[in-house]
Amino acid sequence: MSHAMRFTHDNLPQRVCFGSGEAAANLRRQVESLGASRVMVIAAKAEEGLADEVTAELPVVVRHDDVVMHVPVEVAERAREAAAAAGADALVSVGGGSTTGLAKAIALTAGLPIVAVPTTYAGSEATPVWGLTEGARKTTGVDPVVLPKVIVYDATLTMTLPVPMSVASGLNALAHCVDSMWAPNADPINAAFAAEGIRSLAAGLPKVVADPLDLEGREQALYAAYLSATAFASAGSGLHHKICHVLGGACNLPHAQTHAIVLPYVLAFNAPAAPEAERRIALSFGTGSFGTGSFGTGTALDGLQALRQELDAPRALRDIGLIEDAIPDAADAILPAVPPSNPRPVTADDLRALLRAAWSGADPTT
Ligand code: NAD
Repeated sequence: MSHAMRFTHDNLPQRVCFGSGEAAANLRRQVESLGASRVMVIAAKAEEGLADEVTAELPVVVRHDDVVMHVPVEVAERAREAAAAAGADALVSVGGGSTTGLAKAIALTAGLPIVAVPTTYAGSEATPVWGLTEGARKTTGVDPVVLPKVIVYDATLTMTLPVPMSVASGLNALAHCVDSMWAPNADPINAAFAAEGIRSLAAGLPKVVADPLDLEGREQALYAAYLSATAFASAGSGLHHKICHVLGGACNLPHAQTHAIVLPYVLAFNAPAAPEAERRIALSFGTGSFGTGSFGTGTALDGLQALRQELDAPRALRDIGLIEDAIPDAADAILPAVPPSNPRPVTADDLRALLRAAWSGADPTT
């Protein structure tokens, strides 16, 4: 039986300017082309130095450094008031996913255009997804108004990202790629982006670990971060993201590290039921076999685990603050969110076993 290719794919309207050492010049040009003359710069205190450098030539009316992970509503409200008080007509965010997230929270209510300058591999800059937290409850939504109009990528701005954070953030991007292979709106275009993202992360991250100032490695990881987020934005949240969303929200675990740890367990769970995704992922890692000509003999999980080993990736959720007693409730919260399109059915028992293994750092194949 022939497999007809049939899909509907939306490309998101965004300009991507990529150039190491060129953020300041690219920002100046892009802010000008938006016609903006009153810029609000959003950067956390830790990234203030980087932000001052690349925004020095912009018509800045206010600088805002009150950035908090997962965007608490009161933090969003203060930022919105600051934007309104200054009469800002554009937002420039310089930082990781938390900083981009705050810019999105302002755009959501004020409709201001965002120019995002990412300094991690989280990928929020390439999605129309916003997130806000109220108490322990994280709400996310999709709105085209929060999609940055322009992304300015400059790998020199990621040089200072410490190696453990670079590894966790890079594996967060890898998780976008892997999950895109079976997420609800998976299609061949997402898969192509995701496969190239995996290849580029697997090439770049070891270089970053060997030398955090390796520009080629940093560029490969940053380029892959864009691909991964684009694939994720289009494919939607698969099982992996549903699990991490609950762990991040209800259990307050750090975002990138949670993704880095959970990924091999989801891959081990889904891969046997998703042979095409498994083949594609394995090939991207250089471990799979290609048609009849053998390329390698390993599985997708072998590829991931070899990379994780090389990167000395975080291993167990208990090391980043998950309490074992929280597992049953977390499993119950994840279960109703599991996408019906997941390649294999998922029970509460499956989720408890998966979370327990990820909690202790057990071998994902057992
Ligand atoms: P983050 O933005 O909180 O940054 C992590 C840490 O790295 C912070 O301490 C920050 O100050 C530091 N840092 C960032 N860039 C640095 C640099 N160049 N040098 C030195 N230190 C640097 O973490 P993150 O993982 O980038 O983002 C996580 C957040 O983004 C979460 O809230 C998550 O939900 C959100 N997110 C959203 C989307 C989306 O599509 N909406 C996608 C991915 C992540």
